[in-house]
Amino acid sequence: AAPVALVSGMSSMSRHHIIVKSGPTLEKLSRAKTFAFDKTGTLTQNKLEVSDIVPAEGFDKEEIQSLAASVEQQSTHIIATSLVKDTPKAQIKSVSDLKETTAQGVEGTVDGKKVKVGKLSFVAPDHEKIDAGATAVYVAINGQFAGYITFKDMIRPETKETIARLRRQGAKQIMMLTGDHKNVADQIAEAAGIGDTEVKADLLPKQKIEAIRNVPKDLRPVVMTGDGVNDAPSLTAADVGIAMGAKGATAASESADAVIMVNDISKVNDAVAIGKHTMKVAN
Ligand code: ADP
Ligand code: MG
Repeated sequence: AAPVALVSGMSSMSRHHIIVKSGPTLEKLSRAKTFAFDKTGTLTQNKLEVSDIVPAEGFDKEEIQSLAASVEQQSTHIIATSLVKDTPKAQIKSVSDLKETTAQGVEGTVDGKKVKVGKLSFVAPDHEKIDAGATAVYVAINGQFAGYITFKDMIRPETKETIARLRRQGAKQIMMLTGDHKNVADQIAEAAGIGDTEVKADLLPKQKIEAIRNVPKDLRPVVMTGDGVNDAPSLTAADVGIAMGAKGATAASESADAVIMVNDISKVNDAVAIGKHTMKVAN
């Protein structure tokens, strides 16, 4: 395509709050056939709400919430920021020996207690499986399973129409890639108009990358949109990586080919439309 058209397309993108880093991205967007999305914070709102705290025998709700929020206070994961937002400030205590394990959880010492928060397999690997029925994090205190916290993960108001419009714009396949459980993922998929076969749940970051790499040639280019620090590797693996949200997405933004600067997933539709228009006038 003519460089002038690409420059004009990139400036049109920026007027729509989409920063595109190079011209070839417009061309790939114009003929993209697969659109992959992270679930939490991308198809759903960028805040979760604490919905329940379920203590194990011998533990109480306030202690679990206080210790969990205390170890989460420095994490930028959406689960962490949401838990801290929903916990009274007075309950948040100082933490030492803090360590975060990507896509697993965090651990640290609070009030002399060793606290772990995250996936059940991370905090209490020997514990029997729990069906929390919602997005959840599990808590262990001094190596003992202490209970779990559930969250309400709400679909964005614009998600359903965004997916429908992508299909009208020529998408052959939508993919939801999530580390969350299948049953939670299926509920959001259904509300979003994403089909059963398009949901890939319980994924480790490594498996998200594989899912993108495994998209066959006739279903490419593949565009991946994600919001979190954890999404950076899958954005790199895609033909076009789009980072959502101006704040808290710095790692994702650096790995991305495009950055949506506002909290609105329908900007993916605008990116495709501008890509198509640019290629039409360029040829
Ligand atoms: P998703 O694909 O849903 O965005 P991630 O891959 O970021 O999920 O994380 C997978 C899972 O790891 C989360 O659902 C959560 O259980 C756990 N996890 C990751 N980071 C944290 C954290 N800071 N605190 C608690 N749990 C975490
Ligand atoms: Mg995420």
